[in-house]
Amino acid sequence: MNIAQLLVKSALEYPDAIALARGETPHLDHRNLLRKVSVMATHLHHRMKLVPGDRVAFAMTNCVEAIETMYAIWHAGLCAVPMNAKLHPREFAFILQNSGARLCFVTSDLAEDIASVKDDCPALERIVDVSTRDYGFMAVGDPVLAHDAAPTDPAWLFYTSGTTGRPKGATLSHRNLLAMTLNYFADVDRPEPGHSIIHVAPISHGSGLWNFPAMARALTQVFPESGRYDVPEMVSLARRWPQATIFLAPTMVKRLIEHPAVHDLRPGDIRTISYGGAPMYVSDLKKSIDLLGNVMVQLYGQGEAPMTITHLSRAVHADRDHPRWEQRLASAGLADACVEVRVVDEDGKPVPTGEVGEIICRGDVVMGGYWDNPEATSRSLRDGWLWTGDVGAFDADGFLTLKDRSKDMIISGGSNIYPREIEDVLNLHPAVLECSVVGKPHPEWGEDVVAFIVLREGARATPADLDQLCLDNIARFKRPKDYRFIDALPKNNYGKILKTELRTKL
Ligand code: AMP
Repeated sequence: MNIAQLLVKSALEYPDAIALARGETPHLDHRNLLRKVSVMATHLHHRMKLVPGDRVAFAMTNCVEAIETMYAIWHAGLCAVPMNAKLHPREFAFILQNSGARLCFVTSDLAEDIASVKDDCPALERIVDVSTRDYGFMAVGDPVLAHDAAPTDPAWLFYTSGTTGRPKGATLSHRNLLAMTLNYFADVDRPEPGHSIIHVAPISHGSGLWNFPAMARALTQVFPESGRYDVPEMVSLARRWPQATIFLAPTMVKRLIEHPAVHDLRPGDIRTISYGGAPMYVSDLKKSIDLLGNVMVQLYGQGEAPMTITHLSRAVHADRDHPRWEQRLASAGLADACVEVRVVDEDGKPVPTGEVGEIICRGDVVMGGYWDNPEATSRSLRDGWLWTGDVGAFDADGFLTLKDRSKDMIISGGSNIYPREIEDVLNLHPAVLECSVVGKPHPEWGEDVVAFIVLREGARATPADLDQLCLDNIARFKRPKDYRFIDALPKNNYGKILKTELRTKL
């Protein structure tokens, strides 16, 4: 099924439900969104001469046009290449070249960046700025029926965030996206038509992927007018639009719970905060539950199996009386409904419960491969299983605890040390705003544990204080040998901490 059918169906069943809103203002209902998208598809075919299978990129700060263009692309049988708005022009150029995109939609703030690399991208014929008449003209004309796409046709090239090396384009098919959508209803939530989703995280990534369950249930997709994550703005939109669903990276959750505006939220304003993409520290999670109520759902996935490997449900977050509640909050939860998950050794053999190994998964959510990158594909997809590069362990109840990316694990004196465990302890100190732990090469021990610490403004903590905290909570050999106090942690455009960059400071 062409994923564009989600809009076709919602337009039939809930034609008058508002599909898109700019801030507080309704933009289009589902009937008119479908009408616009199907006319735009005609332009893509006839005026721009694109043929099914062609790639169409976009570089846009979050805005309603991002959803319009995406659905027009799928409606026309083309493949979307969403690019993070914060990328460097060189990174845009790489993705445009690698995907061979023939057309790129842009918001005006990014028009110059894309124009500046056009000459380096031989396949790129045209750039359309969505604030211009060129784009407005695409809404005028005759509609066309949605292209009859095969389930395996590429629909979305999801470029990995590239915390190591060049980004790779995980090729997601219509079937992958549909499986992810149905999995949302099985494991995360089933919102009602008329409810809302507020897109504050990049639409090219997690928040954009959640547009599918939102479209399938005829939600109102709300785009903050600032085009970015601003806590007071998001809070007032959550008060305006019913029962908001919001995808947030853990660093964004932290900003929310530390902002005074969080207290303006009324019970029920937020229906679900789905968080994931990076570790969430237990101390932040408990504070979120206390402040926001039972709205948190964790997702563990990756571009290669979008949003869908394991989940930590609302019910587990609420089950405070469970003897292993805290342990469970520190986990990524249970395997998702639509995917098989295993923890294996180097040969792909499952390791016993409780033992650490690489996480692999198989199912309809797993990508077909990386775009134009057969070597990387054969490393990641073996015998139908996706090797995630993440390391973790199942407990006896089936909860998966992520240890770290395999490459982030520290080996000291022959023992494996997982930075996240130490970071969880350091975060307990009230003076610590954020921290990250990495390994420093050591001639005798292999590696030494080093902690980078960002203190809250005006707060104080000495290495001795932090060392005592570690002594009280974890095995002695895991304690950092060195504490480095810095102003801010280096992060990529998705808010993920760049340990590679921290290691260069050692
Ligand atoms: P990306 O493909 O850019 O979305 O990055 C996916 C990676 O983010 C995964 O392979 C994990 O290393 C990490 N990740 C995703 N979800 C979680 C989570 N819930 N907890 C910890 N790390 C996560």
